[in-house]
Amino acid sequence: MENCLFCKIIDKQIPSKLIYEDADIFVFHDINPAAEVHFLLIPKEHIESMLELTDKHQELMGKMMVKANKLAIEHGLTKGYKTQVNTGKNGGQEVFHLHIHVFGNRG
Ligand code: 5GP
Ligand code: ZN
Repeated sequence: MENCLFCKIIDKQIPSKLIYEDADIFVFHDINPAAEVHFLLIPKEHIESMLELTDKHQELMGKMMVKANKLAIEHGLTKGYKTQVNTGKNGGQEVFHLHIHVFGNRG
């Protein structure tokens, strides 16, 4: 997707603080953190939002949630954290490339 901010981050045309990357997933720190730790998990496939999901995305979405937990623990969020997926205009989504927010404070 040419004009998608997060596709450009995946392609490294726009820099980000990378946490994790594999063939399907890209994870990086949110530029405007809402807590001590705040990162975003995105699929490498350009999916606009949860509204676009179909059965073929089941494995990908499951993989992203399991990875979200692993990375949250690795970042010290061992007592818990929040996840959020803003979906569509009415869901408060601002960047139209599906992303899972993980945020929380250590301690
Ligand atoms: P949304 O409201 O779409 O769920 O959240 C978009 C998130 O992307 C926001 O938390 C915002 O801070 C983050 N964000 C927007 N632009 C950039 C950017 O260029 N780099 C990074 N790392 N995060 C961004
Ligand atoms: Zn995109």
